[in-house]
Amino acid sequence: MKATNHCRVCGGTELTVVKPGMAPSNLSPENFAITDPRYGQTLPILACNACGFMQCPNVDGLLGFYQALVDPAYEEGRPQRKMQAFGILQHLMPLLDTPAGSLRLLDVGAGSGILVEAAREMGFAAQGVEPCRWLQEIAQKAGLPVLAGTIDDLPPDARFDIIVLADVIEHVETPVQLLRACAARLSPQGLLAVLTPDCRSLAARLLGWRWWHYRIAHINYFDRHTLAAALSAADLEPVRTLRPGWRFTMQYLCERLEAYVPKVLIPRFLYSKRISIPLNLRDSLMVIATKRP
Ligand SMILES: [Zn+2]
Repeated sequence: MKATNHCRVCGGTELTVVKPGMAPSNLSPENFAITDPRYGQTLPILACNACGFMQCPNVDGLLGFYQALVDPAYEEGRPQRKMQAFGILQHLMPLLDTPAGSLRLLDVGAGSGILVEAAREMGFAAQGVEPCRWLQEIAQKAGLPVLAGTIDDLPPDARFDIIVLADVIEHVETPVQLLRACAARLSPQGLLAVLTPDCRSLAARLLGWRWWHYRIAHINYFDRHTLAAALSAADLEPVRTLRPGWRFTMQYLCERLEAYVPKVLIPRFLYSKRISIPLNLRDSLMVIATKRP
């Protein structure tokens, strides 16, 4: 297989197929739904012989799939996602020596503006960019400043004190370039928060290729080391590494559990949309980085 001929982190040219998968030519926008429950279904995964980074081949027209994506189930989880967004922002607070009100925050891949909304409620001057038209319109209708497009579509002189890249870097074909674009937009003391699944976490190792983060939309699989290497390649330096937890409705958890347990074994009363619980499986990484002096 030679669809991708170099490692996206170290540039190494020797890659070995470690997991076969779906051919990139058979894809449609539905494959990129944020709530896609088909765990374990991926494109072919290749590991770099030099640094161990795992990635899938490039996908023709990838950005177009995200622009055309429609995923109503994502919005159903808005209250839980907003609590998660507050959680992410809370992790940043101890590193800030100025009140939130004076800080400019950018959420890259802002979806329907959930984190932007949470950040504005906390007093940040927050805005976002989002390539998916459907999600961006939801944000716009809610009066949230989320621009349609990518970070490259922002005005050239736009700078931020905080940039959040939450569950984005595993979706792009040029992760180091994306980190560089973020670094270029940071103010001198600015902070970049990168969140991504950790493919060497205990949950990932226990579940093997059935781990919930193995999915078609994820074309990069980072761990602490490869994420640190990617940040370093973009002249960024980690200042803190955390394991953020998430919040889910019982209904969402039960539906996801069906991928691992026969449905008849999950009691119906557990499928509740009203009850949500915090869950930290420690299989996500949150690295806060600054620009190298
Ligand atoms: Zn490599």
